[in-house]
Amino acid sequence: MPDLNKLIDEFEARKSPLELLTISALDKYDVRVYVKRDDLIDPYLSGNKWRKLNLNLVEAIRLAKATILTFGGAYSNHIYAVAAAGRQFGLKTIGIIRGEAPREYGATLRFADECNMELHFLSRSDYRAKIIPKDIDQSTCYILPEGGTNCLGIKGCERIVTEVKEQLPDDTKVDYWCTSSGTGGTASGIISALKNDSEALIFSALKGDFLKSDIQKLLGNCVAKKYSNWQLITDYHFGGYAKFKPELIEFINYFKATTDIPLDPIYTGKMFYGILDLLEKGFFKKGSTIVIVHTGGLQGVAGYNERKGIRIEV
Ligand SMILES: *Cc1c(COP(=O)(O)O)cnc(C)c1O
Repeated sequence: MPDLNKLIDEFEARKSPLELLTISALDKYDVRVYVKRDDLIDPYLSGNKWRKLNLNLVEAIRLAKATILTFGGAYSNHIYAVAAAGRQFGLKTIGIIRGEAPREYGATLRFADECNMELHFLSRSDYRAKIIPKDIDQSTCYILPEGGTNCLGIKGCERIVTEVKEQLPDDTKVDYWCTSSGTGGTASGIISALKNDSEALIFSALKGDFLKSDIQKLLGNCVAKKYSNWQLITDYHFGGYAKFKPELIEFINYFKATTDIPLDPIYTGKMFYGILDLLEKGFFKKGSTIVIVHTGGLQGVAGYNERKGIRIEV
């Protein structure tokens, strides 16, 4: 069992840089844009998946649970992060994976396997019912939901906001906070940390607007306060979750070439595309300050390129 206090100190040290974006493409808009580079926290365990895991790992160790059990798809960034956490902090990990075992593992499952994550594959209906296989002794397990999205995960994401506030020049008033969203956990943490003092723009990586009620539910369960300082932006899913169009790939490669900031095609690429499109449309007030949270996901790009036969630079 890892030493709890040592671990907490180590976790506290994991901060990410805040960068002012200075590209000429922004000059005409009269806005100041900062990027919170959570993608740079660690090569394996970074982004919002780290934020959501942080306090959950502390809690697992406090409860003396030496095994982290969680759920996800075969390409899940969360599965990757949990496997990496197990390897870094000496915990056993179990991944319950949606769908039949593939004949050949993709990059994420290969990595999970290398980290000694124990993988179990469930049919889609068993997965939906979250049926944990009988041969797993659940009494030793700390069970984390899909995406790491639970109340401690949301609390961990609140730290994105507190960290940024410490990093910004004194007296900076942020007008907009932007994040990409899948389960709504990260968005909920950001919204609750803002305490209604500036607006959060939540870019959905999925088609439809069900995330709105998901986020309301998460906030209701975990924070028990009502917030009106946010809106869900649903126009930049590019056909649906993990789908793409050539213009998205072009944009990501252009953005990397001009800013040196790599983006992933599932979450951050779509959000940055959306933000630049909204700037062009005059959505943001003149003179405003925007903080964009880079939630990571870059470790998944190689596998995405492999599956789709495309080339995104990271
Ligand atoms: C998982 C993930 C998200 C979505 O986060 P939620 O908390 O599930 O909404 C956003 N960006 C990246 C890079 C992710 O891996």
